[in-house]
Amino acid sequence: MSRGTHRLYLDSFEDTYATTFAADVLAVDGVDVVLDRTLFYPTGGGQPCDLGVLEGPTGTLDVSDVRGRDAVHHRLPEDHTLSVGDQVTGTIDWDRRHAHMRMHTAQHLLSGLAYAMFDGARTVGNQIGAGRSRLDLRPVVMDETDVNRLRAAFDAAVADDLSLSMGIKDRESLIAEVGEERSNVDMIPASVQQMRIIRIGEQVDVCPCAGTHVRSLGEIGPLGEVHVKSKGKGTKRFAYTLDGNPL
Ligand SMILES: [Zn+2]
Repeated sequence: MSRGTHRLYLDSFEDTYATTFAADVLAVDGVDVVLDRTLFYPTGGGQPCDLGVLEGPTGTLDVSDVRGRDAVHHRLPEDHTLSVGDQVTGTIDWDRRHAHMRMHTAQHLLSGLAYAMFDGARTVGNQIGAGRSRLDLRPVVMDETDVNRLRAAFDAAVADDLSLSMGIKDRESLIAEVGEERSNVDMIPASVQQMRIIRIGEQVDVCPCAGTHVRSLGEIGPLGEVHVKSKGKGTKRFAYTLDGNPL
């Protein structure tokens, strides 16, 4: 299981929106199969994995779990008969993935706005779900008026349909542009010098990320329900839904 998987969804927005792909089986370990390339997002960064199917020489197989980064493991039914070298066609469950993309991009937007609006409030945790997501902010003081200001700023950015862009940037130039804290680059090991940067608009949010994002904010739609509660001194948990989310 030493050979790696090319994670196709990282390459461009076109690839992030692709739903089918062809791949070769690199390794088989019981119910887990490693492919040479994949569109399946593996669980990580607070985002659940993609689900879907692989069609191989013996039929269609459900993918029930996806894990790993360098080698991406696709979990198949116990009676699968795939072996190394087989060619497969993968298809991801697009409704689930798109809901995660919208929720995850909403989290970037909320994190960027909160940092700017609440004196450098940092995002110290997040969990994405298709129906409901949350992020933890620290240090932050937020009353109801602040929550409404954040909601208004979020909905305004979505109404403006700001574009997202992706690119490779080195650590020093990222720090020079937005600083270590705002980009959360201080959370990434110093050995990592080149990273994939996701940017909303000019500078609404700029941070390294290997997740999946929508092309422009109009796709997200307005915030739905919001619940804010304290998670210890100076920390707030901001839970949200998105209006019009299909799941
Ligand atoms: Zn991201």
